[in-house]
Amino acid sequence: MTMYPLPDASTDLSQHRILVTNDDGIHSEGIQILEEAARRMSDDVWVVAPEFEQSGAGHSLTLSEPLRFRQFGDNHYAVRGTPTDCVVVAVSQVMTDKRPTLLLSGVNRGSNLGEDVTYSGTVAAAMEGTLLGIPSIAFSQVFAPPADGEMIIDWAAAREAVEPMTRWLMSFTWDADALMNVNFPDRRMGEIAGVDVTVQGRRDLSDILLEERTDTRGQPYYWIGYRRGLDEPKAETDLRAVRHRAISVTPLHLDLTHFETRRAMIESLEA
Ligand code: MN
Repeated sequence: MTMYPLPDASTDLSQHRILVTNDDGIHSEGIQILEEAARRMSDDVWVVAPEFEQSGAGHSLTLSEPLRFRQFGDNHYAVRGTPTDCVVVAVSQVMTDKRPTLLLSGVNRGSNLGEDVTYSGTVAAAMEGTLLGIPSIAFSQVFAPPADGEMIIDWAAAREAVEPMTRWLMSFTWDADALMNVNFPDRRMGEIAGVDVTVQGRRDLSDILLEERTDTRGQPYYWIGYRRGLDEPKAETDLRAVRHRAISVTPLHLDLTHFETRRAMIESLEA
């Protein structure tokens, strides 16, 4: 694990048109933090976000119901749909004179680490931005009991670090197929050990559980929950970085092809 100090990049983003979205909903605390950070970087900031919480929506589109959105205030639009819908609405209906040149998604309430990324609406919004040719960054704030037991729920690190992380990530060019997944550890700013450039990890155990309950009419209903076990996460992973108090940034890409398996299949056919 290589920990770097929080980069101090002064990249000028004032000419950028920034689209801010999320999956927790337009009224969530995390998107306000992200919008404030965006406004410190540019005057051209637009918020197009779900009217209601869409956590776990993944990269889904609303196809079987009408898609509605409404404006409230300057440059704020609430969409009755998924995070992916929001990006599509923003680009095709809201920012029609000029497309966004940077997409920021989050700050999510909770981690998007390891296998979370394909469930995540926060990351999916960044995937959609990438598909549309817009550099896109997903931000998440880890809220989980750390190994030493003390539970800290604090947005302070996200509040301070979104801007320097964005300026640094925008200081170099990354592949058009890539998006950035940033997770802030559940620590206060002074306790953060640095920045680690990571790979997508995987938990030892990640079962989705259905907890059955009974409503007032005696009918069963269910809440989805997780059972997640994890010993020391593998080296270089996002899971390990945040465990060790680092801000994790993982460059992800949209191509899901498993190249080694493809090679084995071709070899099998050629044999
Ligand atoms: Mn969420």
